[in-house]
Amino acid sequence: MIESKLQKKLRGAVLQVSIVTAVLLVCGGLLFSHLRDVQEAAVRSQVAAEAEEYRSRIHKQLQSGFQILSSLSAFLEEPSDEEDWSRLARQLREAKQGNDFLSMAFYGRDLRGIVCAEDQAPLANAPLAELDPEAQSAVTLALDGSPSVSRLFQSTISQQRVFAYSIPVYADGAVIGALSATDHIDIFTDILSGDTVLGGGGYIHLIGSDGSFLVRSPHTVVQTHADTIYDGPYLSGSSESEVREAMENQERIFSAFTYEGRSYPFLLEPVGLNGWYLFCVNTGEGLASASADSSLTIGVLFALVLLLVLFLMVRGYRLLRNYSQDLRRLAYYDPLTGAENAVRFHQRLVEALGAGGGSVAALSVRQFPFITEIFGKERANRLLCQIREITDRHLREREFFCRDSGGLFYLFLRDMEQEPVRARLEELIRDLEQSAEISRLDYQLAFYCGVVSASAGGNPEAAADHLLTSVLFALDRARGGHTSTIWFFDTELHKKEELENDIESHMHQALLDGEFQMFLQPKKDLRSGELAGAEALVRWRTSDGRMIFPDQFIPLFERNGFCARLDLYMAEQACRRIRSWMDRGIAPIPLSVNQSKRLFFEPDYVQSLTDLARAYGIPPRFITLEILEGLALENVDALNEKIGQLQAVGFRISLDDFGSGFSSLNTLGKLRIDELKLDRGFLLGVSSREQDRVRLILKEIVQIARQLSISTVAEGVETAEDERLVREVGCDLGQGYLYGRPVSADAFDAAFMRSPPPRMLEGNGA
Ligand code: C2E
Ligand code: MG
Ligand code: MG
Repeated sequence: MIESKLQKKLRGAVLQVSIVTAVLLVCGGLLFSHLRDVQEAAVRSQVAAEAEEYRSRIHKQLQSGFQILSSLSAFLEEPSDEEDWSRLARQLREAKQGNDFLSMAFYGRDLRGIVCAEDQAPLANAPLAELDPEAQSAVTLALDGSPSVSRLFQSTISQQRVFAYSIPVYADGAVIGALSATDHIDIFTDILSGDTVLGGGGYIHLIGSDGSFLVRSPHTVVQTHADTIYDGPYLSGSSESEVREAMENQERIFSAFTYEGRSYPFLLEPVGLNGWYLFCVNTGEGLASASADSSLTIGVLFALVLLLVLFLMVRGYRLLRNYSQDLRRLAYYDPLTGAENAVRFHQRLVEALGAGGGSVAALSVRQFPFITEIFGKERANRLLCQIREITDRHLREREFFCRDSGGLFYLFLRDMEQEPVRARLEELIRDLEQSAEISRLDYQLAFYCGVVSASAGGNPEAAADHLLTSVLFALDRARGGHTSTIWFFDTELHKKEELENDIESHMHQALLDGEFQMFLQPKKDLRSGELAGAEALVRWRTSDGRMIFPDQFIPLFERNGFCARLDLYMAEQACRRIRSWMDRGIAPIPLSVNQSKRLFFEPDYVQSLTDLARAYGIPPRFITLEILEGLALENVDALNEKIGQLQAVGFRISLDDFGSGFSSLNTLGKLRIDELKLDRGFLLGVSSREQDRVRLILKEIVQIARQLSISTVAEGVETAEDERLVREVGCDLGQGYLYGRPVSADAFDAAFMRSPPPRMLEGNGA
């Protein structure tokens, strides 16, 4: 019971630990993903902010280009003749020398101009149509009044990829021409290739609207060559289409690419010029990595806390389990011998009875306290341990045993038949007697053993309790004697003992409560057919209405001495009844009361009876005292003396059940009785073949009795034939069912004692 409760608790604890762990994991996962989201958002906003910064730097760079052109344009005038053109060429060359432009040019409204490139003589009168189309469109826009920057183109002069700035040149508020300059795209390299890009945690490429790389950062992690971001490892599947769409709409987009097993988040930030984009890649270092590091730290910390919690839980669980094992040891094991204890035995017995039958034996060391006293506690303990070891060897599979207390052990054997069980126990006891150390110390070790068997079925719990109680009764029986004894529980005997025990515990109160009642059975005068008397027979009517007959309690009362009290009580009842007849004017009849041996020899017996008769004012001759012939066996003289005393008072003495035991005519001759009751055994089962012999014996006895002036009563007259027989042999009186069964005194009165005239009994065959 305790075990199953503990296991249930442990299972509960495991479940709780699992739930807490799962909750922690889920919380941890959520927290971690939240942190990642926060970190990702932080990195994105950081990257976006930086991209914005770089975008404005690029714009500033372009702005400074326009600034230079704008300052120069203020000094230019519309050329009208050769001299003007050569002055303009000189001005352009000087200006070119003062800045980093690759080339500078001026185109007039007639779409002809002068181009001044590095290390080259100014090219005069150059038609605009000969310029690269990208540069042409920028110049055209400027001529129309709008400053512009061209897309990239291959310079025919420098043979490099360049772009052109172009601004309108005004004179008197009117556009007189366009001032242009080309610059190498690499002017942005310095801006984009610094170490501090994205806080050192990334790099930036400048890409064109078609995805081509305009400026490549030297810090790129991707080593494979690609002309556009659509080549190489940058975009895949859905992200490519998303990126294309975003770039068409000049929108900012966050995405990621995977290179050599690592994922790199990137941002495409529109520059706002010619469809250019900043391709910002986060390499996970620098500031971003610091943030990643911090979330990693938090993750690690969380994992540590989780591990700690798990550790504590596992440790707690183990402690609980060990504790429960300790408890189990304490609850189920005998600390001295290591054998299981009675609690565990009971549990296992219940299980075993549920699975099938078996026998329970209670085995006890005879005189164990004496052994402890003589040989000391240590030796006595050793003996118990040896018994444990030896018993262990004798048991078979699915059999078990325990030590209860002192030298008492319980065993469960799967055999159910008495003989195999006895043989096994005898063998065990023999082994114990021979092997135990104490036996070698000149001490005759002995055991006593009670056994009870039970088959499967019914409620195992109740059956186990019953077996353990019964086996103690058997053990108690086996206790008597000095050698090793085995006693099997006897159900019938036990029932009888139980009843006796019940009777003994209730008899005193029952007497006080008037539960013992006097029944009367008539006696018939065989000659006159009249009622000659009645025998008082006790009946015990219990408080719950049961009727208990004398054979169930008289032998017990004779043993425990209560019979003396009961007989006197019955004698008093008889006196009371005679008194009541006399009081009612009914001629009394003699009543016989049965007297036990104990009462008969009590010192004040005669006096007590005399007092009774006197107290009720009845003549003692109305009371016949029935004694059993066994009384005469011990001391005839003492008996005769007592009889004499009683007869002297006036009581009559009857010898009951003559012929049932060791009756002898010799005894009859010696006893000075008044009446002889012939046992009903004479009539019982008398076959016609034996009838003559019985008749002869009866006749002889009756005749002897008559010669001794003893009247005779035939007991057990049940049939007319019985009556004929007893009448023939000369019996004086008859008693038996033929004349009436024992009935309550009131019922007897109603049947026989109503009127003074002679009462004739039925069954008078005369
Ligand atoms: P008992 O004194 O020999 O009484 C006669 C028994 O025979 C009675 O049994 C009675 O009911 C039974 N009996 C009478 N006629 C017949 C018959 O025709 N056929 C059969 N089969 N039985 C018949 P009961 O009342 O059960 O008493 C049994 C014995 O218990 C008595 O035998 C007597 O020895 C003893 N007893 C009864 N009452 C007392 C008592 O108050 N004190 C003592 N000490 N013993 C008593
Ligand atoms: Mg009797
Ligand atoms: Mg009798």
